[in-house]
Amino acid sequence: MAPSSLHWFRDDLRLADNPALTASVAHGSTLCLYILDEGGARRPLGGASRWWLSRSLEALAAALSARGGELVLMRGDPAMILPEVVAATGIDFVTWSRRYDAESIELDSRLKTIITTTGAKVASFNAALLNEPWQVTTKTGDPMKVFTPYWRAARSKGEPPAPIPAPGRIAALALAPAVAAMAVSLAELALEPSKPDWAGGLRQAWAPGEAAAAERLGEFLSGPLDGYGEGRDRPDRASTSRLSPHLRFGEISPRQIWHATRSAMESGEASAGSSDAEKFLSEVGWREFSYHLLFHNPGLATRNYNPRFDAFPWRRDEAALKAWQRGLTGYPIVDAGMRQLWTTGWMHNRVRMIAASFLIKHLLIDWRLGEAWFWDTLVDADPANNPASWQWVAGSGADASPYYRIFNPVTQGLKFDPKGAYVREWVPELAGLDDALIHEPWRADSQALAKAGIALGETYPNPVVELDFGRRRALDALAATRSAETD
Ligand code: FAD
Repeated sequence: MAPSSLHWFRDDLRLADNPALTASVAHGSTLCLYILDEGGARRPLGGASRWWLSRSLEALAAALSARGGELVLMRGDPAMILPEVVAATGIDFVTWSRRYDAESIELDSRLKTIITTTGAKVASFNAALLNEPWQVTTKTGDPMKVFTPYWRAARSKGEPPAPIPAPGRIAALALAPAVAAMAVSLAELALEPSKPDWAGGLRQAWAPGEAAAAERLGEFLSGPLDGYGEGRDRPDRASTSRLSPHLRFGEISPRQIWHATRSAMESGEASAGSSDAEKFLSEVGWREFSYHLLFHNPGLATRNYNPRFDAFPWRRDEAALKAWQRGLTGYPIVDAGMRQLWTTGWMHNRVRMIAASFLIKHLLIDWRLGEAWFWDTLVDADPANNPASWQWVAGSGADASPYYRIFNPVTQGLKFDPKGAYVREWVPELAGLDDALIHEPWRADSQALAKAGIALGETYPNPVVELDFGRRRALDALAATRSAETD
């Protein structure tokens, strides 16, 4: 029988710099398979991620077919499907790109054993990271706990390998009838919302897929990278790359980002200074660090990294949680962020920190509830970055922001959105206020409010909690946790 292979696409929805796909294609005619796995112990995708996935699969299918290949879609448990497909087609080589959460690792190693016993070979590759989580360690070989030494150690490993090109031609494997019968259409996967269709803002904001990711990187390198070091904190400007959902779904690799950034700097194509480029690459480094943490702490999304927080007196407050989710807390920068998230599936990093801090500290609501909301609403909802970042803000994480560091949404707003442009875009009912008042509408007198057409408590909410009170309550809760520990 002619050699044939199967590449199982998961979080690597691209053709270029995809060593697992390249190995499959080099082996023989290839079955390119994506399996939508909605059951099992693994965390189902959130709504915004499902929308992104749908568009990304569409783009991938088109890119494969332009090279002669075909994307086959199935739905169900990969532990059942994959061995069945291999057996029915006589495929002798299976490839995939590695994932790093505990359930996926367990599933992948189980599948490796099952498939190998049928006589087929299985090979897995790194497509998602500059360094595998186990490659960067302390001098004594332990996992790293602090970002700066982590990144220093990662950098000391030298340049990451250069990205490899997309396979030229892809010979599609003719499907045995039993396998063809298992395939479903993209529409049958029902990934996009219909009743109601809430994805209009997502469609407007994003173009998923490998080609769009490459274009976005190019635009970023020739534009906002210049000044990124400072500009990255400004939600009122388009000053970051917005590559996060592309990275999340593997439409672009960190190796590609790394080398493109380097060569743009060297060729003079980017006008940015090297400190801007270093800062940008170190943010990609934070993503690497999150994966390092996830790999070494499988419970990252559900368990406090620092167990001292297990005794933390979180409040249950459904009304406050809802106000936060809907962008109706009465704090304009928080509300702007939460509405940007709801509409576009993305929120600026500075505002993610402010909004998360507000939920955890001023409202004293468990970080896991915030993490779950982000998981459902972010197009870049990431199994490593999301829990690692929430734990960072909560102070329960590795190398975390100390719990007593409580972001003040007013001073943060004044500093990072000084003219209120970001608030005006996302909280239009406040647009008529002067710059000086837009981050604290409750300070406006009745004349200013009337002029701006605002009736506080009616057209825009009063603050859901008073800032000093919330801050004191959070610090008391922390002190109580600490003294409980020493009792
Ligand atoms: P850029 O500034 O252009 O950075 C380039 C890339 O570096 C990003 O695409 C991202 O992959 C990585 N990166 C940047 N900042 C961080 C960071 N602080 N931590 C880890 N990686 C980073 N990022 C996600 O990708 N998915 C998430 O689910 C996620 N949840 C978050 C939750 C909270 C509470 C917070 C505070 C941050 C979260 N982040 C998450 C990190 C960060 O906010 C986003 O990665 C960033 O805003 C994406 O925008 P960008 O692509 O324009 O970033």
